[in-house]
Amino acid sequence: MAKIFINPGHAPGGFPDPGAVGPSGLRESDVNADVAAMAADYLRAAGCEVMVYQSNSLADICNQANAWGADAVVSIHCNSFSATATGMEIFTSRGYTKADDLATLIMSQMSGEFPVLPVRSDWSDGDVDKEAGLYVLIHTEAPAVLVELAFISNPAEEAILASYEGKRKFAASIARGVTDWLSK
Ligand SMILES: [Zn+2]
Repeated sequence: MAKIFINPGHAPGGFPDPGAVGPSGLRESDVNADVAAMAADYLRAAGCEVMVYQSNSLADICNQANAWGADAVVSIHCNSFSATATGMEIFTSRGYTKADDLATLIMSQMSGEFPVLPVRSDWSDGDVDKEAGLYVLIHTEAPAVLVELAFISNPAEEAILASYEGKRKFAASIARGVTDWLSK
């Protein structure tokens, strides 16, 4: 049974770090936790073993994922920049790894669910993922991706992130991307 580790970004309950906060007061840490819980439900229904772990410590997150023996790690975040910044992003560590395929499959599902949201990619390596030396991506042993669902700083996207249906669609996209990757 595949073991999928899901990390909702920022501190549990928003203390001390709620992550980004939208114009209406929506907290990233809460959106991330909701989407992670829903994705976990979908993945368990699909036969995966799932660990959801939210922590203020990035080292703690990576230690938990590695000690548990995760087969894949998905970290969930919301983007934040300005009221007009828009779209979805997914990050992997630099260079081609198995995480690149996972990122491609998750983003394919997300863009299918949210055709109005642009996919933000630099296409630097020909893949949809952006590549960066983010802590959770380089200190986890399993293939790891970091998803930026949408811009919480953009009122229209904040509304999607606040809605049950929006969160459910993001969760379903992540779960389907993971199961597509597992069955490759
Ligand atoms: Zn974040």
